[in-house]
Amino acid sequence: MTLQKDSLMTCAAEQLVGVLTSVTGDAKRPVALHVPEFSGREWEYVKDCLDTGWVSSVGGYVDGFERQLAEITGARHAIAVVNGTAALQVALNVCGVQAGDEVLVPALTFVATANAVTHCGAVPHFVDSEEGSLGICVTALAHRLRMVAERGAQGVLNRETGRRIAAIVPMHVFGHACDMVALGELAAEWGLPIVEDAAEALGSSLHGRHLGTWGQVGVLSFNGNKLVTTGGGGAVLTDSPELARRLKHLTTTAKLPHRWEFVHDEVAYNYRLPNINAALGCAQLERLPDFLTRKRRLAQAYLDATRDCSTISMITEPVGCHSNYWLNAIRLAEGGETLRDAVLAATNDAGFQCRPLWRPMHQLPMFAACPRTELPVAERLAASIINVPSSAVLGAKVNVDLR
Ligand SMILES: *Cc1c(COP(=O)(O)O)cnc(C)c1O
Repeated sequence: MTLQKDSLMTCAAEQLVGVLTSVTGDAKRPVALHVPEFSGREWEYVKDCLDTGWVSSVGGYVDGFERQLAEITGARHAIAVVNGTAALQVALNVCGVQAGDEVLVPALTFVATANAVTHCGAVPHFVDSEEGSLGICVTALAHRLRMVAERGAQGVLNRETGRRIAAIVPMHVFGHACDMVALGELAAEWGLPIVEDAAEALGSSLHGRHLGTWGQVGVLSFNGNKLVTTGGGGAVLTDSPELARRLKHLTTTAKLPHRWEFVHDEVAYNYRLPNINAALGCAQLERLPDFLTRKRRLAQAYLDATRDCSTISMITEPVGCHSNYWLNAIRLAEGGETLRDAVLAATNDAGFQCRPLWRPMHQLPMFAACPRTELPVAERLAASIINVPSSAVLGAKVNVDLR
């Protein structure tokens, strides 16, 4: 390590530890990256669920959970399923993605996005990211389509691979919105459906419209580390009554309604959310407004604390987006990319659970051979972003002036 690099690293690590110390105050160390919180009616609803005996595939909490989700997001329909990955897979399915197709996804995402495409028998086609939103770069995507794609009778064809391009999956990183307006125009131009991976974006909106309701379908996750949890769970949002019917059918073994007969009309999935998980979810959703307030207070505290730092800065919501700030993200200043792991070691040693971004998908062995654009921004972001402790509980005590 050169002397300059060495002092830059010390400086970035010191500044970040200083920020973490001031923002998290007297929180007990180690301070976790994200913990769930069960301070509402969780025990009551789960106990009620157990008392009724309806813990599994039938029961009122699933319906209630789906109704609450529709109300919160403004989607006409919400279909609860067993996890976010399964939700993505069936969402792609009902949008017409078939084995042998290609699906455009950002290289910078959680592995579930690319896995779900693969579970459909399709191939992910990786697209670069955008500096501001961290989401898929619409300019890079438009350029890519112009270079390799043509419209024909079967839809959009990738001339280089001979495969059909069947859908676009934007992902809203940490609850910050992609440019859905520009993406919507591009998708319409090419006749491609949008499946929104809004797994991290419950409570986030763009121009007042909830994320996950901009595309034909949108997907949420209720994994244990998400803003609202059902233990494990997911949902698909859509405004289309046909897609909603199809999604319900496909995720519940395609069983035809009958009092005693077991008749199924296609090969389908057992992806329904158990009622006991939905009971937990109903109680969690009641807490969402309070979670969101505290998350945004915490983000404001990080922003205030990093404002005068020379080596680190806070990633903030894009213009027009009201973000849930699911995970707060700190970016190392230019030149800091090579220091990321040393800074992570210092913050974790100091008792703050910090994490890097995901390894970009094209750098994982199973996706290394997939088609892709140039990915300079995704690689740079992955090398320079650090997630810092973001539990809602931390936002309860911070002293900020909310603008
Ligand atoms: C959490 C997450 C999912 C879904 O995850 P599950 O654990 O299957 O619920 C999908 N995409 C992204 C970007 C996520 O963060």
